[in-house]
Amino acid sequence: MNRERFLELDRSGQGLTEEEWEQGYHWCLEWDDMLVGPGQEEALFCGCNHPKIEEWKQSEEGIRMRKEMEQRLEKLDADHFNEMFRQTDGE
Ligand SMILES: [Zn+2]
Repeated sequence: MNRERFLELDRSGQGLTEEEWEQGYHWCLEWDDMLVGPGQEEALFCGCNHPKIEEWKQSEEGIRMRKEMEQRLEKLDADHFNEMFRQTDGE
């Protein structure tokens, strides 16, 4: 799977080969049939039970990406909280 092929599939919304599916690429139900494959953050949320994606989630890369994403989300939460606190402060 290269970038061109990915974009072509993503644009056409069809034509995924069996080989590509076996690599983990699939139309993800979790993302409204968006093309999702291993190595994408979206795949961390994939609930399709695709065997390759499940395998990828447990891989070093998958675990690292999940950690990084969780750290980002925690930071977002903190920013959001601070924002809300500022808005209600002084009322
Ligand atoms: Zn999926």
